[in-house]
Amino acid sequence: MRLFKMNLLTQILIAFVTAIILGLIFGQSIEVIKPLGDLFLRLIKFIIAPLVLATLVIGVASIGDPKSLGRVGTKTIGYYLITTAVAIVIGLGTAFIVSPGKGLSIEVQEKEVEVNETEGVIQTFLNIVPENPFLALTEGNILQIIFFAIFVGLAITLVGEKAGPVYRFFDGFAEVMFRITGIVMRFAPIGILGLVAPIIGQYGTQVLLPLLKIIIAVGIACLLHAIAVYSVSVKIFAKMSPLTFFKGITPAAVVAFSTASSAGTLPVTIKNTQENLGVSNKISSFVLPLGATINMDGTAIYQGVAVLFIAQFYNLELSFMQIVTVVITTVLASIGTAGVPGAGMIMLAMVLGAIGLPLEGIAVIAGIDRILDMFRTTVNIVGDASAAVVVAGTEGEIDRKAFEK
Ligand code: ASP
Repeated sequence: MRLFKMNLLTQILIAFVTAIILGLIFGQSIEVIKPLGDLFLRLIKFIIAPLVLATLVIGVASIGDPKSLGRVGTKTIGYYLITTAVAIVIGLGTAFIVSPGKGLSIEVQEKEVEVNETEGVIQTFLNIVPENPFLALTEGNILQIIFFAIFVGLAITLVGEKAGPVYRFFDGFAEVMFRITGIVMRFAPIGILGLVAPIIGQYGTQVLLPLLKIIIAVGIACLLHAIAVYSVSVKIFAKMSPLTFFKGITPAAVVAFSTASSAGTLPVTIKNTQENLGVSNKISSFVLPLGATINMDGTAIYQGVAVLFIAQFYNLELSFMQIVTVVITTVLASIGTAGVPGAGMIMLAMVLGAIGLPLEGIAVIAGIDRILDMFRTTVNIVGDASAAVVVAGTEGEIDRKAFEK
């Protein structure tokens, strides 16, 4: 069977194109294959909590001293914040030029948009510390798992020899979880077919066409960001060719596009970053889980485009101060966005609220949110991977043999 011999990347891309064609041909009835997609999603989700715990414990224990950990942490968070701010500016700029909301006549359904009470900043920080790490594991609370894992890793280093068995346990456990990821990925082409075809079938062209301009604006901004920010930074900081970078991360990008969940894609992002881009376990296991939770460049782009779109739709001009407020609140909103489908749209309410734009504006784009979500999630995880490459590049933690074959 030639099809099975083909490499996974080719199979995934073929599945993706087939899904679009099937969705267009069969419309809503292609829904029958959705359980295949749901199965794939569940399979990659069950890997997340144990994988993050095991790899991060090993990562931190092998970084060793707290000083290097602090340095890696500062670089990572610095890169995340800067690239997110750039993303919003690119989103706003693109929407300004494409003007997706001008002259649009769509009936806005009166829809109550629920704005969740956001917890105070202090409480948000307090919540990172788990009261019970096992509960964090069962609930899949990534930030709390990260917190616990960093402590276990550090303590392993401090205890030294006696902690050897604990280290070896997590080391072996991480290998086991990686192997499971590999097995599950064999199923990715079928899973992607099951995820993408029903979405294309459900939307069809009638829903998409009137809002095509906003999809194009988000698409262009995402592309611009990837080219301007990621390819340049991997080249400068890690001397990696952008082509190698994008090719290496493509399987994870397709999974992110299909699932619209960066948390769900995490096992694949880690696998690609280590195996195709040569980033050490030490760096990738620290940078990527954190990124999947707080670094959302795609979401920031989307929120920037959406804010301007809604302002244009209601014929409102934004003042300079409002734009500055958008940049600041969007950085916070994208950090607070969970890596699950649709989360970015809920956080958009916070940004609109901050500058007094009508929340009903969300209803105009809510119908196509899933499509926009696919684009933004892809950028979210590619951004995380670029951070891993950049940090690893500056720390001498890239094994070039992975791609210079
Ligand atoms: N779905 C996105 C993600 O998982 C978050 C969002 O809705 O913007 O990265």
